[in-house]
Amino acid sequence: MFESLSDGLQSAFKSLSGKGKLTEGNMRDGLDIVQKSMLEADVSYSVVQDFMKRVSEKALGKRVLLSLRPHEELVNIVHSELISILGPVDPSLHLKSEGPTIIMLCGLQGSGKTTTCGKLSQLLKEENIKPLLVAADLQRPAAIEQLHVIGRQLDVPVYSEPDNKDPVAVCKAGVDKARAEGARVVILDTAGRLAIDEELMSELKRIDKKVSPDQVYLVVDGMTGQDAVNSAGKFNETLELDGVIMTKLDGDARGGALLSVKHVTGVPIKFIGTGEHFDALEPFRPEGMAGRILQMGDIVAAAREAHRIVDEKEREELEAKMASGDFTLDDFKNMMEKVAKPGLMGRMMGLMPGMGQFKDVLESDEASKGIKQTIGAINAMTMEERSNPKIIDAHRRTRIARGAGVQTPVVSQLIKQFDVMKPLMQGMAGGGMGDRMKMMQQ
Ligand code: GDP
Repeated sequence: MFESLSDGLQSAFKSLSGKGKLTEGNMRDGLDIVQKSMLEADVSYSVVQDFMKRVSEKALGKRVLLSLRPHEELVNIVHSELISILGPVDPSLHLKSEGPTIIMLCGLQGSGKTTTCGKLSQLLKEENIKPLLVAADLQRPAAIEQLHVIGRQLDVPVYSEPDNKDPVAVCKAGVDKARAEGARVVILDTAGRLAIDEELMSELKRIDKKVSPDQVYLVVDGMTGQDAVNSAGKFNETLELDGVIMTKLDGDARGGALLSVKHVTGVPIKFIGTGEHFDALEPFRPEGMAGRILQMGDIVAAAREAHRIVDEKEREELEAKMASGDFTLDDFKNMMEKVAKPGLMGRMMGLMPGMGQFKDVLESDEASKGIKQTIGAINAMTMEERSNPKIIDAHRRTRIARGAGVQTPVVSQLIKQFDVMKPLMQGMAGGGMGDRMKMMQQ
């Protein structure tokens, strides 16, 4: 994520740190590189100008030139200015204590509205709230069915009227139903067009007038760069937006759009979408994002992600097992199955400082084949073998390999690795790994 923006900024800082002492002259060179890399990352010109003015004023002040580590000082200034233009934060959905809170999602076709309905539902379900989804995208033929599929996957109700051609009426009826059934949240999945047009805007205005949504969120495709900025401006003129959700920031999005959209709309970025799965929605944190842009990594986000997949009780049990040395191959398999979810390892690695470079390796076919083979080999073992791999002799190894459809060395390697790993885990668990994780979350 944000590769080109962070690469550019990194090379800017590298070129500065090569010079022993900063002077006003080479500081300006550095600032020029920062400016160029932001423009290349699709940050709009006016935002860059504004940003550079703020950074230069601070950077060229005596404080930086006189500081002991001027390069670090410059990084700090860019970091804190990034935070300031990306903030303030407001990840709350502002749910009302009574009556359904009406959330309306709007955005261009393909921006990720329907998928985001599912992601928000997942988030709400984690809070024990079951929303009602309303299929009001009557433009895209498959949108209604897509929302029903999501509803079935997440076990949340979906309201649709396949024969009704009037999205305003569908939204109104959906909201009435949510009210009648006492739903706490209703999410309207509205139509998008491939580009902004008057008809779309007037449709959204009519829905807005008819059902008075409590929260209107613009869903923006982070991959589309400057187009995203232009459309955000238009939506913001038509509707009173309460927030922006930027999707597809898991790909090689240039990321600059996020800064520009924030600048153009002036409303908070609520969430970012980092994948196609329902759990790939993160509350937006400017500190983390600024860190990622500067490639400092974001341990907090990684810790949160880890917490999401392994719940408190499971983690405590695992830690106790690790600490006492009772951790078996079966536990190892369960852990692998959790982290082997598509894209998850890569996402977590991308968030760790300095680990971004391993992301591609972990996401490679080779790596996922390796994980599958390991899980397959453990599946082919008896429970006794999983608890006590020492009993696995040559004969058993051959049987397991045959059962899992892998070569025998794969099984030998796995047992060897587990042998090395177990005492390491024991040490880590003894050192209170869970406590450290908790600390990072605070
Ligand atoms: P809509 O037309 O606005 O409802 O868009 P959809 O929800 O159908 O999304 C369009 C495509 O983008 C689908 O293939 C989604 O799976 C994909 N998508 C949505 N959000 C994300 C995201 O955060 N990351 C990635 N990689 N893909 C996404």
